[in-house]
Amino acid sequence: MSEPETAPGGEPGRDILAAYRERIMRLMAIAGVIFLTPFAINDLVQARYALGGAILLVVFILGVDAIAIQKKKRAPFPFSLLLIPMAASIVLSLKQQGFYGALWTYPAVLFCYFVLPRRAANIGSLVLSALASGVAYIYVGPEITIRFVVTLGLTIVIINIILNIIGQLQQELVGQALTDPLTGAFNRRQMDISLAESIERNRRSGAPASILLLDIDHFKRVNDDFGHHVGDKVLKGMVALIKNRARKLDRLFRMGGEEFVLLLPDTRASAAVKQAEALRKLISESHLIDQRPVTISIGVAEYWSEQTQDAWIQAADDALYQAKNQGRNMVVCGSADTDAIPGLSESPEKKFGRAG
Ligand code: GH3
Ligand code: MG
Ligand code: MG
Repeated sequence: MSEPETAPGGEPGRDILAAYRERIMRLMAIAGVIFLTPFAINDLVQARYALGGAILLVVFILGVDAIAIQKKKRAPFPFSLLLIPMAASIVLSLKQQGFYGALWTYPAVLFCYFVLPRRAANIGSLVLSALASGVAYIYVGPEITIRFVVTLGLTIVIINIILNIIGQLQQELVGQALTDPLTGAFNRRQMDISLAESIERNRRSGAPASILLLDIDHFKRVNDDFGHHVGDKVLKGMVALIKNRARKLDRLFRMGGEEFVLLLPDTRASAAVKQAEALRKLISESHLIDQRPVTISIGVAEYWSEQTQDAWIQAADDALYQAKNQGRNMVVCGSADTDAIPGLSESPEKKFGRAG
């Protein structure tokens, strides 16, 4: 089974600030109103009406959006709209005040990265920079413009590097939060999310799903006889074997201790039993430790509509209990629909059975 880079149900970490965007916007608005209003008033007093008006428009849009967000309503103006009065302010400021006007480009570029998704922010900041550089070239000459372009370019590169690193860290943390550190299998928390997704898919489209509940036989003895570290080695080895054998969309979760759940999407009980049987055989034949063969018992359950998640797991658990009772190293299915599986039920060493 090839595990995806990100956990199922988790978003790939592209737009890493998305979850914080409204809060950022609110804080930006407060900062914008405090820092920009005095300049807008000064420009109006100095009869620079166009510039003062453009800055006031930035303040107005920021303020209206922030109030809406504060009241838990949708921001009426898209954040990207702010780029227009911002660009106008920078251009007018460059024209009327020379180089000082260019300085506004830096916070404007930062603003893009904090309130827009990355792609839009890259486009927005490049357009703003190109526009400001062009106007700077006309009004303040090439020498300053070259330095302006280089420092602006550096700023954009540094912001992208920082956001990439934050994105990677975020992805690592999500991975850690959803996987078991010893074996690398997904943890119980992720299992709950994935099973709920399968149930939802079944409700919406009738897609079947089955689970295998796997438990190592007499694992306590492995620990007692050879030590905990050998037990750990068995757990890791078993997970590696199962992941290797499972299909692309199958997902392995560590329920706890030496109990694992393999979720098989789009799989009826009959096919799930075959898969379980193959895994049981694989583990029993692979020499996970030299000292003694390791075997597993597996309870299989297909999801039946209207069943709760707990009832689904319980069905697999009941089947597993039977497998343990009937001698271990075997597969028992807790669901119907297994009659058509040739060779399983009559094979004595496999002792395939059915619950209920
Ligand atoms: P059965 O065949 O009935 O399943 O017997 P069992 O011995 O496997 O089951 P039991 O529940 O009695 O013991 C489970 C053991 O798993 C006990 C515990 O020490 C061990 N175990 C749980 N988690 C870990 C772990 O992370 N590492 C190691 N080495 N052992 C673990
Ligand atoms: Mg066990
Ligand atoms: Mg157990």
